[in-house]
Amino acid sequence: MATQRMTLDIIVSVYNEAASLPAFHAEATRLVSQLAAEGTDATIVYIDDGSADESPGLLDRFAAAPGVRVLHLSRNFGHEAAMLAGLDDCDADHAVFLDADLQHPPEVVLRAMAVARAGHDVVLMRREVASGSGLRRACNAAFYRGLAVISALPLEPDASDFFLVGRPVIDVLQREIRERTRFLRGLVQWVGFRRAVLSYTAAPRRSGRSKYHLGQLFGLARDATLAFSTAPLRVAFIAAISMLLVCLATAVYSLGGWWLGNPPSGYTTIMLFSTAVAAAQFALLGILGEYVGQLVDEAKGRPVYIVARRMGQAADHLVRRAA
Ligand code: UDP
Ligand code: MG
Repeated sequence: MATQRMTLDIIVSVYNEAASLPAFHAEATRLVSQLAAEGTDATIVYIDDGSADESPGLLDRFAAAPGVRVLHLSRNFGHEAAMLAGLDDCDADHAVFLDADLQHPPEVVLRAMAVARAGHDVVLMRREVASGSGLRRACNAAFYRGLAVISALPLEPDASDFFLVGRPVIDVLQREIRERTRFLRGLVQWVGFRRAVLSYTAAPRRSGRSKYHLGQLFGLARDATLAFSTAPLRVAFIAAISMLLVCLATAVYSLGGWWLGNPPSGYTTIMLFSTAVAAAQFALLGILGEYVGQLVDEAKGRPVYIVARRMGQAADHLVRRAA
């Protein structure tokens, strides 16, 4: 039986990756030929996320060849926004997201496509050996465990932002999930559909440094929490109940002492107690502030990214729209 031809967009976010782009593009081009031999017509879609190095010029040169298109965002909007720009531009049957630093081995895409052809709409690629330092791996593990507990979302523990989605999922993400505070690797697990998980060994970064420093990872964890859970808001109730119990115990202790003619005294205890309570209150206010801030952000409804210019072959749907 002849294999049905399918289309695939290989979406690659790029932020100052000039050092690894030539090697990446060579591998991605090889992948496109391998995919073609297996019945998949792939397009490489680069999202230049406001790079300040030589990446934009390199990408424009790649875009001179057929089967490559480039979207230049008007500034650096962040990896999540860049992935969404690629997703919104996709009119293929499938989309796969790759890092430009060759940490996501392109040949895994061949396996993912075979699994998708077998009827899976979401193919997650799970890191067999997590990359990064010990501290980073520990933070990652704690984050996924924590998020699974507070969001009741069964997240694949080592799923990275390397995944393939089929048209039904692309449709949902393009039309129905338009929130600004987003965590795409969580959303593709939240939507349901038929899901498969593949394993791969993450390669070390080919060159340059990770764009995610600890502060940005913290931001990602915050966005993921805001996007998938309201449990932190309930911490206030737990704190209130605990404080009530402490208050009752203190009342019994103080009144008992007074009754026995030996009232407790202690500046240190009072100061420690009141400052600890004040710290807890500010912390809870901070949590509330994060959620309110998210609401303000969503209410403004600004675009998540802005495309400044595009190069290379236009997606079919844009050609159709222009016609
Ligand atoms: N990236 C991006 N915008 C950013 C930061 C990163 O498009 O603001 C791209 C980056 O070029 C890379 C991918 O997102 O292709 C993942 O970033 P990185 O490799 O630095 O993250 P890590 O793999 O260390 O988590
Ligand atoms: Mg990387």
